[in-house]
Amino acid sequence: MIIFSNVSKVYENGSTALNGVSFFIERGEFVFVVGPSGAGKSTLIKLLMHEETATSGEVIIDGVTVNGLKQNQIPYLRRNMGVVFQDFRLLPKKTVYENVSFAMEIVGASRREIRRQVPTVLSLVGLSHKAKSFPSQLSGGEQQRVALARALVNNPSFLIADEPTGNLNPKTAQEIMELLNDINKRGTTIIMATHAKDIVDQMKKRVIAIEDGVIVRDEARGVYGYEN
Ligand code: ADP
Repeated sequence: MIIFSNVSKVYENGSTALNGVSFFIERGEFVFVVGPSGAGKSTLIKLLMHEETATSGEVIIDGVTVNGLKQNQIPYLRRNMGVVFQDFRLLPKKTVYENVSFAMEIVGASRREIRRQVPTVLSLVGLSHKAKSFPSQLSGGEQQRVALARALVNNPSFLIADEPTGNLNPKTAQEIMELLNDINKRGTTIIMATHAKDIVDQMKKRVIAIEDGVIVRDEARGVYGYEN
């Protein structure tokens, strides 16, 4: 479970990105985070990943208060949290297989585990036949599938997706959403920040809307609620 309890984030230049944000996310939920540019969505995601620290309040992930974590405890937090971004962020000189296996090497998985797990996730995202390709040889949708495989290879409880369909055409975006839905049905909690109105409206999942650093809406089968 993820708990934000009265979380505020003020950056060093004095700009307040989040101002007293509170919510719970239960295990297995699928949550969209929406709101205008500058609302605080990326900051919320960075706090979850512990890339930024809350100025006040508490971020608690599976019972662990993230604010208080020591530097050497962060890898454990990250291992339990897969992340995908709008711009895929694959390593261009590594093959599809290596991009995914590298994420396991970093956390010290054994070669045996890696040999078993990488083909499993590549098959999950439908890319077994591209294992030896390089990112530049793949379409945008395929690259995002590799990023998803990499995010999932260590079996995280949470998948954080920051505008994952932002660089994809509508049909490919739809395919990625179907994949995310399948991944969620297998038990992974998904938190996705997005501007994709059509996708949010169609999926009928929980929607948390942020404006100017505060939650203005938190609905169980919500809609996007803004004009795009
Ligand atoms: P969103 O993802 O919804 O566009 P952000 O979380 O990126 O919103 O930004 C929220 C607010 O915090 C904005 O006013 C932005 O200018 C500010 N902000 C974001 N990152 C930083 C930073 N590293 N330093 C200073 N201000 C920042």
